[in-house]
Parts: sequence; C-alpha cells; structure tokens
Amino acid sequence: MKDLNIKNNWTTEELQTIYDLPFNDLLWKSHELHRKYHDPNKVQISTLMSIKTGGCPEDCKYCSQSIRYDTDINLEKTLPLADIIKQAKDAKNSGATRFCMGAAWRNLNQSNLAKVKEMVREVKGLGLETCVTLGMLTGQQATELKDVGLDYYNHNLDTSEEYYKKVVTTRTYQDRLDTLQHVRDAGVKVCSGGILGLGEENIDRIKLIQVLANLENHPESVPINRLVKVEGTPYFDNFDVDEFDFIRVIALARIAMPKSYVRLSAGRDTMNDQMQALCFFAGANSIFYGEELLTTKNSTIQHDQDLLEKLKIKTQAPMLKEKNKISAKDSGGNKLKDIPISVKDLQKPLVS
Ligand code: SF4
Repeated sequence: MKDLNIKNNWTTEELQTIYDLPFNDLLWKSHELHRKYHDPNKVQISTLMSIKTGGCPEDCKYCSQSIRYDTDINLEKTLPLADIIKQAKDAKNSGATRFCMGAAWRNLNQSNLAKVKEMVREVKGLGLETCVTLGMLTGQQATELKDVGLDYYNHNLDTSEEYYKKVVTTRTYQDRLDTLQHVRDAGVKVCSGGILGLGEENIDRIKLIQVLANLENHPESVPINRLVKVEGTPYFDNFDVDEFDFIRVIALARIAMPKSYVRLSAGRDTMNDQMQALCFFAGANSIFYGEELLTTKNSTIQHDQDLLEKLKIKTQAPMLKEKNKISAKDSGGNKLKDIPISVKDLQKPLVS
C-alpha cells in the first residue's frame, strides 16, 4: 500500500503553510513523523576526511577552499593512498561502518578518477561502506565509481535555484541536479542538502527543501549546514541565522522527507545544547563528529559525548569506550586524523 507520508509533488504553498505553523505545532508534526520512521533516541555519527584541500577554482562565496578568496588555508595535494587506508582502518577499528573522502575539485578529471577508484576499492575492501564528495560527475564516472564499490555520493544544492545564482556563478543549479541524477542513475545513494546563512530568505530555504523532496527518490541523507563564517570569504560578515528559523528548516525537512537521515552538519559548534536538542526533537538524526570539519571547527568530541549522554541519545555504531574517551584537555590541538573515533557515516557538508 502506498505510504501517504512519502510524496514528491510538494508545492511551495504546502511547504510554506507547514513552515509557518505555530512552533509547537510544527515540532509536534515533525516529531510524530520522526518517531514513525526512526528511533528518536538514536543518531548516526558522521565525519569526513579531506583527501585534497584548497585550491578550488569555483567561486562559492561561503567556501574557504576557493582559490579566489584570501583565506588561511594550507593547500594540500591529493593525499597518498597509504594515508587514506590508514585512516580508514583507524575509523573501522573505532567502529566505523562507512568512510567518506572529499576533495576540493570543480569536477572529476580522468587522472583523479583513477586515484579515487583505487581509494574506493581499497576502503571497500576493508569492509567499510564508501562515500565521496568530489564535485560534478558525469554519468560514466558515476557508473565507474559504483563499479568499484561506491555506496554514497555527497553533492549539496546549497539553497534555492533563484538564490543560488548569487552564491555561485561558476556553475549552475542544473549542473548540480544533473550530477545528482547521474549518481542516482548509477545506483549510488544520494546525500544532498544545503547551507543556511548565505543571506537567503526563508522562502529560499523552503524552496531548497521542495527541490530535494520532489526528486524522484528522496536523498538518503540530507545535511543541513549553518554557515561557518570564514575570514576572507565574501560571506564572513553575514548575519547569523535565527535559531528558530534553523530548527523550523530541520522540521520541514523531516516532514517533507520522512525516511531520510537529516544531518545536523557544519556550524554545530555555534549552537548551544538546547538548540541541538530541539533539532533532534524536530527530526535531525545524524551529526558530524570530530573536532574539525575540513577546514573549520566543529563541536569537541568530549562535548558531543557529554551532550548525547545527557539526552540519552544512542549512536548507531558504538561510541568510544569510557576508558578511551578523550578529554577536552587531552584532545586540545589534535586533528581529527589523530583521534581514534567511532563513526557510522562519513559525509562532507561544504565542499562540492
Ligand atoms: S564548495 Fe566545493 S566547489 Fe565550491 S569553492 Fe568550495 S571546494 Fe570548490
């Protein structure tokens, strides 16, 4: 029998009406659906590994990795395969079931495709699920990645089609949609969401959710990022997103795509515990875990462990055992790659 909660013909007016509900009514509605399709006391834990940092030719106005902006980023070449395998093994030993690799590329060229295929094959061979975010893909490239064992591809739409033109001029919204279609056609699972805080209006946020929810199949993962303001980028001085607006978008995503994993992504370190708790109630059921997200700060691991314990929220894969917990003091200054972490799902919020 058809599930009436799962649809892909949302109108802007329908979503606007839901978005404008009194806050308690909106959260009641989203939480009810959340409870129907997910365990409300369980989250996926996500992290990401940058396999090539900085030097991107695109002009995404929020991104520290664009070559067009004077940011404090160390350019790095593509990491050697051995480093990636080591990190994947560490992640697996810490309980990871999925490993994501991201690169600051506009699109994938043939030489990089060959390298990434090798990485995917090796990581898959370790018994991990694989995920990559590499920029735009052709259908042939998506198929080749699928053939070597790729499970997920991350490619964010960022915002509404109308507002997107103000954020990025070096590629079109349709380019993004084409890549998502290539990924879906190849049989790879889709991870796609957006960023709040780009200077957009609430209607742009509603339209972003509408586009995602009206794809033929909802993305399996929907990361919702809060802009991380990076000095040197054009959006460094943007206004902060209103907390209640952010929570409303999480709730709207949950209602429009009831089965998807809604990922509370970049910018979580700027949210207090109460706001995060409301996001979980509204329907978020995945977070990034690790003290660094690509090039920006994230919530500390210790803080996340404490928060989840306080809320009695469990993770899909076991977190670090008590004796291995990293104190805020001990972990200060460490990079994610230096810290053994337990990850379930590895995604990337801002790149590509
Ligand atoms: S978001 Fe991705 S595509 Fe845009 S500048 Fe950054 S790395 Fe490049």
